[in-house]
Amino acid sequence: MTPYRIAATQPLHDEPSEGLAAQSLKLENCHVFFDFDNTITAFDVLDGIIEQFSVNRDWVAYEEAWKKGKIGSRQCLDGQLRSIRVERAQLHAYLRTVGIDPAFGRLLALLRRHGVEPVIVSDSFSQIIRYILEHNGISGITVHANTLRMHGDCLQPSFPHAGSQCLRCGHCKTETLARAEFAGKRAVYIGDGLSDLCPARRSDLVFAKRGCSLQRHLLETGGHCQPFDDLSDIYNYFKEYTDDTDPHRRLHESTRPATI
Ligand SMILES: [Mg+2]
Ligand SMILES: [Zn+2]
Repeated sequence: MTPYRIAATQPLHDEPSEGLAAQSLKLENCHVFFDFDNTITAFDVLDGIIEQFSVNRDWVAYEEAWKKGKIGSRQCLDGQLRSIRVERAQLHAYLRTVGIDPAFGRLLALLRRHGVEPVIVSDSFSQIIRYILEHNGISGITVHANTLRMHGDCLQPSFPHAGSQCLRCGHCKTETLARAEFAGKRAVYIGDGLSDLCPARRSDLVFAKRGCSLQRHLLETGGHCQPFDDLSDIYNYFKEYTDDTDPHRRLHESTRPATI
């Protein structure tokens, strides 16, 4: 995928001006990928489940090893979930306490008005994600994530989207973005964490949650992104750069005609 950005994307480092050449980006010609935890939700739900329902502190060592890059997320999740004991009703009660970003619904509607069906790519579990979305009145979104089965009060993970090349990820988001079904369009990526770094690097426009590890790592490596605090920032961005009343307007045409 050609390295590419639009004029409105703020560089995190000063770069030679030829690196800032603006190209047009029509929302209609984009796939839009969302991370889930701490991107659509206000906090990391999976971390919350692990902290709430683990019967020992084994998960801490897995977390530390993962943060240091000693193990991949698949090995980390496998190990962490072994310490969880939770009844289905308890888990559902917990998931019902999780709110989603209040702007997600209107951002989704805006994207759909432009013919974009967004895709959630997550290293959490599709059953958890769908439960939270449905409880918050959101349906019909494609979710690529790991899967979870309950055996009594134990959680058993499986990893149908583990990468063929990548041995680190539970769900290799990078390989998902490279799938044939997502070819031929620009990629817009919205995320916050370390598992978003690889897919963000192969995307054309990246929104990175301000102050989180995705933004920090892009900053350190000279990558570009549009920082956001919550999804209302992204809604406003698309609202401005798409001119929602005219679906044919290009994203980079930021100057509006003067009103008279
Ligand atoms: Mg996240
Ligand atoms: Zn991977």
